[in-house]
Amino acid sequence: MPRDFLKGAKESYDVIVIGSGLAGLTSANILARQGLSVLLLEHHYQLGGMATWFKRAGGHIFDISLHGFPYGMIKSCRKYWSPEIAESIVPLKGIRFENPQFSLRTTFTREDFTRIIVEHFGIPSETVQRFFDTARSMNFFDDQAKTTRELFEQFFPGRDDVVRLLMEPITYANGSTLDDPAITYGIVFSNFMQKGVYTFEGGTDALVNKMRDELVRNGVDIRIRCLVEKIEVSPERQVTGVVVNGKHIACRAVVSNANIRSTIFNLVGEQHFDRKFIDDAKAVRLNNSSCQVYMALKPGESFDESCGDLLFHSEHTGFDINAMLSRDISSRTFSFYYPSTRPGSNRWLIVSSTNANYSDWAGLPEAEYEASKQDLIESTLCCLETYVPDVRQKLDHAEAATPRTFEHYTRHLAGSSFGTKFEGLQVSRDLPQQVTGLFHAGSVGIIMSGWLGAVNYGVIVSNDVDKLLTTH
Ligand SMILES: Cc1cc2nc3c(=O)[nH]c(=O)nc-3n(C[C@H](O)[C@H](O)[C@H](O)COP(=O)(O)OP(=O)(O)OC[C@H]3O[C@@H](n4cnc5c(N)ncnc54)[C@H](O)[C@@H]3O)c2cc1C
Repeated sequence: MPRDFLKGAKESYDVIVIGSGLAGLTSANILARQGLSVLLLEHHYQLGGMATWFKRAGGHIFDISLHGFPYGMIKSCRKYWSPEIAESIVPLKGIRFENPQFSLRTTFTREDFTRIIVEHFGIPSETVQRFFDTARSMNFFDDQAKTTRELFEQFFPGRDDVVRLLMEPITYANGSTLDDPAITYGIVFSNFMQKGVYTFEGGTDALVNKMRDELVRNGVDIRIRCLVEKIEVSPERQVTGVVVNGKHIACRAVVSNANIRSTIFNLVGEQHFDRKFIDDAKAVRLNNSSCQVYMALKPGESFDESCGDLLFHSEHTGFDINAMLSRDISSRTFSFYYPSTRPGSNRWLIVSSTNANYSDWAGLPEAEYEASKQDLIESTLCCLETYVPDVRQKLDHAEAATPRTFEHYTRHLAGSSFGTKFEGLQVSRDLPQQVTGLFHAGSVGIIMSGWLGAVNYGVIVSNDVDKLLTTH
């Protein structure tokens, strides 16, 4: 008999949360704290979504998406999770850029970027201050037609070196490009510039395990290996329940942490929405995907601390999104993980990340796919030798992940690492007006992606759910 992962589940809950990414986990926690009965359903055997980790022989633990997030995460975790979680969030000091245009190190704060742009790039201090003030004052209700390209042209015309410094890290953080609305850049960039880049000491496994404990304390019924096949909607357009692992479970509201497009088209079905809404949903563009190479050193081996924590490496001149997405890789971000990442461990790890097009990997026949992954590892090691000269001798383990890997584990359409482009946010926000009790919380619209964006969107949406359920 196959194991019943829903054994003992109730027939009905106030809220069912589909997916345990950071937005889904946060929504579930807040709603349970409000006294609502919450069922959390995750198809994978592990919670966390993209905020996840995996183990390999030799005691290696690799983090997938723990490269850095803004300071705001401390406040969000303290308020919506626990002081203990917030206290494990620590700054990353060593951010480094190496490319044909410049070689520099920074703390990734407004003060330090101002110093660099004024002293290194020779831009007048007043221009830099005006740029930072403009970026910081941007919000969702501002002009959405102005692009990031236009923002940079306004302040730094013809300076693709300055644009590269300002843009490259944000493209790695959320896939955004010069053609996306300037507000998406301004909001995310200013979040980082507030106090620099932060990480979670102890690793993603420690964070997600602490979150799971908190959910259990607050009474959330957590079920892994539970794939939701359908969200059920009445003819009056009211959510009535879900079908999960072939079983119907009733609820008053659903929070879907699945991709917004798969929520609408695969889980609900377009017949339950207005025509205009479906047209808008069809027009939502997915964000790009990623490749990563995970490398672990043998016990007793290490790399020099001068490598820094986060290294933006490129062989390309100028900021060029097509070059960054290309399979002919010229830009990589290296995350160096020291034993202090997981206090008590003696492991030295490096993860290389690149932005990637799903289409470049999706259709490859199996043999070619495996060979391409080997090429990716090989070219990554060649590049890494610049910074860790004898890395090949020190290496204990190396493996690659591609857009196909992310699609497989998180069910994101096209392995999208950062949800959708900006237009996805409005569609996500409009969902409850289409079907009563149907909500979406998860990476969407660029500004609501990444660790901080996902957590904060989980908070916003759970407040909407709470309002609906306590007034009806
Ligand atoms: C390689 C990589 C590096 C990244 N680096 C960073 C970084 O350094 N800093 C940062 O801030 N962000 C980073 N991100 C982005 C960040 O990890 C994500 O934006 C964030 O974790 C997404 O959270 P989410 O709530 O949107 O859900 P997701 O993580 O997308 O999770 C959705 C969950 O829903 C589940 N699910 C989907 N459909 C179903 C279904 N039908 N039934 C049951 N379960 C379902 C999935 O299994 C998954 O667990 C990175 C992402 C990637 C891929």
